[in-house]
Parts: sequence; structure tokens; C-alpha cells
Amino acid sequence: MIELENVSKRYVVGPVTITALDRVSLHVAAGEFVVVLGPSGSGKTTLLNIIGALDVPTEGSVRVNGVELSATTQAQRFKFRRETVSFIFQTFNLFPSLTALENVELALDISPNGRNPRQTAASMLASVGLGDRLSHFPHELSGGEQQRVAIARALATGNPILLADEPTGELDFRTGVQILELLQQQAEAGKTVLVVTHNREISRIADRVIELSSGHVVSDGAPRGGKASVHALSW
Ligand code: ADP
Ligand code: MG
Repeated sequence: MIELENVSKRYVVGPVTITALDRVSLHVAAGEFVVVLGPSGSGKTTLLNIIGALDVPTEGSVRVNGVELSATTQAQRFKFRRETVSFIFQTFNLFPSLTALENVELALDISPNGRNPRQTAASMLASVGLGDRLSHFPHELSGGEQQRVAIARALATGNPILLADEPTGELDFRTGVQILELLQQQAEAGKTVLVVTHNREISRIADRVIELSSGHVVSDGAPRGGKASVHALSW
């Protein structure tokens, strides 16, 4: 469960104060698949980083799975990041000199879920459709496949919350939709999934879209025009 109450984030840069988030309140329940939609600069990354304990709010309360993140020590934040959240990024962030299998195994080295790293990594890669790509290096994989490796890595730790920052930003539309569907399946399997995108068309397959504009939540609900099936999207 993610609970934000009146969260604001201001950055002071020299004489200028930038309000990246302005009194944002929202709740996301376990198993929800939520897309955060907004143009560049609307505060999406700031929001995700605060939920993932990579950043702290200037004001307001952030509770994630019972942990009040605005009142944690550094050690508690490390533990939270190791056990509770996993990030997926626009540029995949794989190690170029490690194979797909090794990239996933590496995440297990620091995870409490890391008892059989090789076996867990292989089964996670199989679950995202990459069972026949274990020994491939990132440069031998397509963008969509690289993002699947990153998703397998995020899943391998067993952490209950997935935070994906523009995970489809580097991908063509069709591949982007496939990645979003894969993330949606993770929510159906019980993970809490927050995906950030600026692409309204892609967001139509979400159950719930939270729209940000200049640091404000301007709408929160089913996608405009209702939830669309993949086949109804305009390619
Ligand atoms: P988005 O991900 O929607 O593009 P961001 O959350 O990255 O938006 O940024 C929101 C606003 O906060 C932008 O105006 C951005 O320039 C500003 N901002 C983000 N991070 C910092 C930072 N570390 N220092 C100063 N300003 C920042
Ligand atoms: Mg961003």
C-alpha cells in the first residue's frame, strides 16, 4: 500500500525555487496497476523517487507498506530499497559486460531472496519470455528484450512494489505496449505496479491513470474513454 498525504517537493537552485510536486495526495493498493501520465517536467520522476526512497519530500507524509519514509534513517532506507521496491528505467540500466543471466543474478546477491541465484535468475528470465536468451549480452538483445531482462531483474528480488520510470520511452510503440502488458500481468499476480509515461495512447490499457501537470494531480481514475484493449490502440 502506497499512501501519500499532501506531499510537496521543492528544489532550491540558486535564487530559484522549483516546486516539482505540489500537495500530492494519493493511495495505491497492493495489486493495482497504475500509470502516472504527464508531460516532461510535470514531476513524474520526482514522485517515483520519493515513493522508492531515493528522494525525500519537503513536506507531507509518505507511507509505503507501513514504513513512514519521511522519518527513516539511512539504514532503514537501504533496507526498504533492498526488500520493498524495485526500479525499472527508460534506458534499462543493464551491465553491458554481463549476460542476461548474470545481470539478473547480480541483483540477487544483495537480496534476501538470493538463495539459489542462478536458478532463480533463469526462471525469472523464462517467465518474461527470455528462456532462450540467458547467455546473450545486452548488445545482442533488442530494446524490448533488454527491458524484459530489467523486468526479470526487478522480479527476481521478490520485492512487492515495481516502479517503472518511462520503461517504454526507448521502445517502438508495439514493443512498448508489450512491456506495459507484461507489467500489468505482474499487478494481476499481486505486485503493486506504478508506471510513468508521457504517452497517453499507451496509458489507455491501464486500469487507473493518475495525471500530473506542473506537480499537481489533475485527474485520477479510469483512462479517458475507458480502458482500451491492446487491439483498440492506434498504432
Ligand atoms: P518529469 O519526470 O515529469 O519529467 P521531474 O520530476 O524530473 O519531471 O521534474 C519536475 C521538475 O523538477 C522539473 O521542473 C525539473 O526541472 C525539476 N527538478 C527535478 N529534479 C531536480 C533537481 N535535482 N534539482 C532541481 N530541480 C529538479
Ligand atoms: Mg522523468
